[in-house]
Amino acid sequence: MGSGDATPVLAVWQRTAPGVSVWGRSRAVVHWARDTRGEKGRIRSEETLGRNTDSRPHAAVVGSGFGGLAAAVRLGVRGYRVTILERLDQPGGRARVFEQDGFTFDAGPTVITAPFLFEELWELCGRRLEDDVDLRPVHPFYRIRFDDGDVFDYSGDAELMREEIRRFSPEDEAGYARFLAMSERIFNTGFTRLGHVPFDSVLDMARIVPDMIQLQSHLTVYRLVAKFVKHPKLRQVLSFHPLLVGGNPFATTSIYTLIAYLEREWGVHFPIGGTGALVQGLLDLIKGLGGELRLNADVSEIVVENGRARGVRLADGEIVAADIVISNADSAWTYRHLVPESARRKWTDRKLEKSRYSMGLFVWYFGTKRRYPDVAHHSILLGPRYRGLLDDIFGARLAPDFSLYLHRPTATDPGLAPDGMDGFYVLSPVPNLESDVDWQERAEPYRKAVENHLADTVLPGLGDEIVTSRVMTPLDFRDELLSFRGAAFSFEPILSQSAWFRPHNRSEDVDGLYLVGAGTHPGAGVPGVLSSARVLDSVVPDARALH
Ligand SMILES: Cc1cc2nc3c(=O)[nH]c(=O)nc-3n(C[C@H](O)[C@H](O)[C@H](O)COP(=O)(O)OP(=O)(O)OC[C@H]3O[C@@H](n4cnc5c(N)ncnc54)[C@H](O)[C@@H]3O)c2cc1C
Repeated sequence: MGSGDATPVLAVWQRTAPGVSVWGRSRAVVHWARDTRGEKGRIRSEETLGRNTDSRPHAAVVGSGFGGLAAAVRLGVRGYRVTILERLDQPGGRARVFEQDGFTFDAGPTVITAPFLFEELWELCGRRLEDDVDLRPVHPFYRIRFDDGDVFDYSGDAELMREEIRRFSPEDEAGYARFLAMSERIFNTGFTRLGHVPFDSVLDMARIVPDMIQLQSHLTVYRLVAKFVKHPKLRQVLSFHPLLVGGNPFATTSIYTLIAYLEREWGVHFPIGGTGALVQGLLDLIKGLGGELRLNADVSEIVVENGRARGVRLADGEIVAADIVISNADSAWTYRHLVPESARRKWTDRKLEKSRYSMGLFVWYFGTKRRYPDVAHHSILLGPRYRGLLDDIFGARLAPDFSLYLHRPTATDPGLAPDGMDGFYVLSPVPNLESDVDWQERAEPYRKAVENHLADTVLPGLGDEIVTSRVMTPLDFRDELLSFRGAAFSFEPILSQSAWFRPHNRSEDVDGLYLVGAGTHPGAGVPGVLSSARVLDSVVPDARALH
């Protein structure tokens, strides 16, 4: 790497590092070493100096989202010494936690599905998930409220679901049963067989074409659903799921209908203490494996030498040498801003500019001084338009109407708010930063419009009850999480950007660089990013091979 070879005159010192957690097996401090000339890029990490007594091959993980944390667990289990470098002052990425005025707000994921993917990480470490995290099933999964006030309770209870379907449209009951059977078939291929394999070569893609044809993957989610049920409201109920991973139901490949089966079979869960409890649980596993988490460690470059990743450079100039680098940073951002242009043949600036990115999100976190016991844990408040609204969002236009997801975690864990109060967040899909919306100016009027809508529908008198409030707009996704175009879910999950067409888990451009997280295969959502880390087991060499 540029500055990691010769050994100039060095001043070496130790300091305890505020804001930096260090879990090296026997270390309580970070060792710093600086070239006395103080040149940028001349700051050495301890391994460069041979001061680290841990002889395991070193894996540097950029970012501490669920994908990065799961990768750190798997690499630790496979014999790597892992250092996670996180630019923010707290771990979790989209799943970080905001503590405010006595309320605990999970910033992002709240619908926890596929618990077996978490269980597996615990088992790899010889532990049991249930000993560390109290995951509670949520019922109903979602309470879906239409604009005219009709309500559909979407759950995993087969009989209750049939009743709900019958209540709206008796003639769709048989079609619903056939849809579920189709969803199971798609799950068995799309998730079980393909979700955990690398799509390294175009042959991998060619091999699955017959399955994709048979499963009608060329259809969109909405079109597939529409083949089975007729009632327009039921078509919405069965097709909204892609929005949870940043996709437009009218454009996303029907592979995503597998979510219906996944939820029904394994349920929707929420951890006591909030999703942050899962982040903390993973951090404890990593700590147990001798891994290290460095907060406020902003990676400005992946150092590439002769086509191979040698480590990372931090914004303050320090270089952390590594045998392999795993980027959990947004994959488009990784290529555009962290991998030098000269090292990129496939993911060129042009290709990244031309790609399609998921929608943005406007998220309003708020607490109320009273409780709203009739509001379910997860509510979906559909607006007057379905397709038209989605056309606006994905067409870069901020619409005057909206469809909202309302989270009330205190329905399951009242401990997330002060006594007698409720914590909420409400999320509105909005265009990403390809649109010309000035969020500095629009954030407060938009929040107010959302507040009024909630007050008119499920949270009467809301305006007088709010005791704490904060918002996130696509600008925060770009500036804090470094998401390309402020997209909430990275590359849009359309067929032409899936599997082999998505940035690969083993970088096509740089040896020794691997990608995990929403922008690589298989895609966004907690199950997707945990699966992306699982793919690493097939493409990252065993640590012993690097010795
Ligand atoms: C509001 C919201 C609600 C959601 N709800 C759900 C849900 O209910 N269920 C579900 O399954 N999914 C949900 N999702 C999607 C899911 O949260 C994400 O797809 C997933 O958590 C992303 O994980 P990731 O591994 O890609 O990492 P991210 O969470 O994106 O984390 C990446 C990390 O990398 C860090 N980083 C970036 N660049 C650098 C750098 N240069 N140097 C150092 N660090 C860097 C970032 O600070 C961040 O911490 C939701 C997403 C959002 C935004």
